[in-house]
Amino acid sequence: MALQLATLETILWFNRNIVMLELWPKEIPLVVQIVMAIIIGDFIPYWAHRISHENSKVLWKLHRIHHSPKRIYWLNAARIHPINLAYSIILSLTPILILGAGKEVLFITGLITTLHSFASHTNIDFRLGILNWFFSMNELHRWHHANNSKEGNTNYGGTTIIWDIVFGTRYLPPSKFNDHKVGLESYDDYSMNFKNHFGWQTQKAKRPKINILEKY
Ligand SMILES: [Zn+2]
Ligand SMILES: [Zn+2]
Repeated sequence: MALQLATLETILWFNRNIVMLELWPKEIPLVVQIVMAIIIGDFIPYWAHRISHENSKVLWKLHRIHHSPKRIYWLNAARIHPINLAYSIILSLTPILILGAGKEVLFITGLITTLHSFASHTNIDFRLGILNWFFSMNELHRWHHANNSKEGNTNYGGTTIIWDIVFGTRYLPPSKFNDHKVGLESYDDYSMNFKNHFGWQTQKAKRPKINILEKY
């Protein structure tokens, strides 16, 4: 939360001092502005998320920490590299600010998207029905945590599923998710050591040291 507030404050500083367009429709109802902010704010992070899975080894090394747990759990939302978290917030809120949205829109949108990220990782089997065509909730997001890229490289949306629908990556098969395995495709070059979750994860997991004298 401290990092999120620091990132938010940094965005606000840049906005105050560098750029401010007056294109945001401040006169329309606040709730409509927030819906707009959530949809617009999801756009660039959608592509950053997709590129981190499909195109960029560097971004994947940061992002795979979020995919390392082997079960779905609400706290997995917080299991994210600080750099991954920071650029996701910046890419989400900066366009809204540049367009000239007010602070209240920014804060409410930030609060909703943060709470939503925990909700989308809950391990509760409920059905959202038609809402699965707007929100990226746990029914969709759990498929994103499947440990095979065919199913895992889908449902990149943060709060909404709109951009997945537009760009053809929404995935919700009729089968139940229960039989699927969660986590990384391979843990060969990944260390589950807690300390390494915030490192660069370029090294292979260290094998336990063998004391050669123990043999004698
Ligand atoms: Zn992901
Ligand atoms: Zn997730």
